[in-house]
Amino acid sequence: MRANLERMGVPLKEIRYGLATHYHIDHAGLAQEFKQAGVPLLVLEAQTGAIPLMRSWIKPRDHYVDISLHDNVVISSAESRAALHRIGIAGEILHTPGHSDDSVSLLLDDGSVFTGDLTHPALAGEGDAGVVAASWRLLRERGATRVYPGHGPVRQMDTESSD
Ligand SMILES: [Zn+2]
Repeated sequence: MRANLERMGVPLKEIRYGLATHYHIDHAGLAQEFKQAGVPLLVLEAQTGAIPLMRSWIKPRDHYVDISLHDNVVISSAESRAALHRIGIAGEILHTPGHSDDSVSLLLDDGSVFTGDLTHPALAGEGDAGVVAASWRLLRERGATRVYPGHGPVRQMDTESSD
């Protein structure tokens, strides 16, 4: 991560918050180390219970540093616009369950949305199709047009849902 930031010319001290779309190791595993380097962790209320749960999936080879709970910046989705505004970002953070109960998406006012692992509607199983569809519907209603998934290419919103 440090090497990538350096390559992209992003000084660590310019990163105002860490935000994990959800608490799976490949998305949140560096959160505590970021905090130790001076980057506070922004947590949505819907995510607080998932942080201690993540520990149960960790393997020794992950070299995971346990995320402390008392020193995070915990906000509600309704408070997210003001919190982002204070650091110069126009947008909001929405609770978008489907891949996991604690999944959130960062939606910018230009229509860009960072969805983490939110399941593609076409790939949702029978059990979670309703929850997944509701999350995509919420994002569309709030103005999402371009999807930046955690894995895979950027895509346009309109072409990927039929709910
Ligand atoms: Zn995941």
